[in-house]
Amino acid sequence: MIDLSQRNIEKAIEKIKNAKHVTAFTGAGISVESGIPPFRGANGIWGKYDPKVLELSYFFQNPEESWQVIKTIFYEFFGKSSPNNAHIWLAETEKQGLLKAIITQNIDNLHQEAGSKNVYEFHGNSKTLVCTKCKTKLPISKVNLDKLPPTCDKCKSVLKPDFIFFGEGIPAEAYQKSIIETQTADVFILIGTSGSVVPASSLPYEAKKNGALIIEINPEKSNYTDEITDIFIRGKAGEIGERFLKYLKQ
Ligand code: NAD
Ligand code: ZN
Repeated sequence: MIDLSQRNIEKAIEKIKNAKHVTAFTGAGISVESGIPPFRGANGIWGKYDPKVLELSYFFQNPEESWQVIKTIFYEFFGKSSPNNAHIWLAETEKQGLLKAIITQNIDNLHQEAGSKNVYEFHGNSKTLVCTKCKTKLPISKVNLDKLPPTCDKCKSVLKPDFIFFGEGIPAEAYQKSIIETQTADVFILIGTSGSVVPASSLPYEAKKNGALIIEINPEKSNYTDEITDIFIRGKAGEIGERFLKYLKQ
């Protein structure tokens, strides 16, 4: 039997090696094998918890209740996860000079934990908190979550995770850098993203419009697969990442 994904992996490696500027774009699917479920779908986080706690107005009116849920999901549950072979493969690819940047929709910090340097976080990062008033930022390791909501040492206002809640805009610098990395890419790698969260979902189309070759890794077809993907590698990110890693080491 011909292993189609193997042939596509080899094709993808060839393209990555010969490219001038490779950018990766990652979504919730890349972290599934690290133990973090996507938000939506059968086993999604929002099947278990009410997403209203991440609505800004609800959060401000009910900071303690919102923080109880936020603590459970993002600090007790997400907090225990570590990078898988897909994160490690991207970090290694950057180290070897073959990957220029990662644009991620994830907030789990796993790309940085794998060693990636040039990471643009489209939706922010859960490992940092920000004061809702004076905007001071501090790492979660410096914050005590025994008493909720946590408050700012300087101005005593409520702290909020430094990822965007429903209704908030994309952080300006990450947005601008992501657009540049998208428009500059001649190879654009999509990993574990369904393409249903706007405005992030428009980036692959923008890359394609600017002439990039689109490589996609996903166990299922996404909104992109039949429309713009040039090389579709069907499979789980961690498993495919492990196979890519073997080639990198050769
Ligand atoms: P999504 O939930 O819309 O889609 C997940 C995609 O991952 C699907 O296409 C699915 O087929 C694919 N997938 C599932 N298992 C996979 C695996 N093992 N390997 C590769 N792909 C796999 O995800 P999204 O498009 O990223 O949008 C969800 C939004 O929620 C994002 O904006 C993100 O900010 C946020 N989110 C983040 C995290 C995180 O930080 N890890 C987790 C959940 C949600
Ligand atoms: Zn403050």
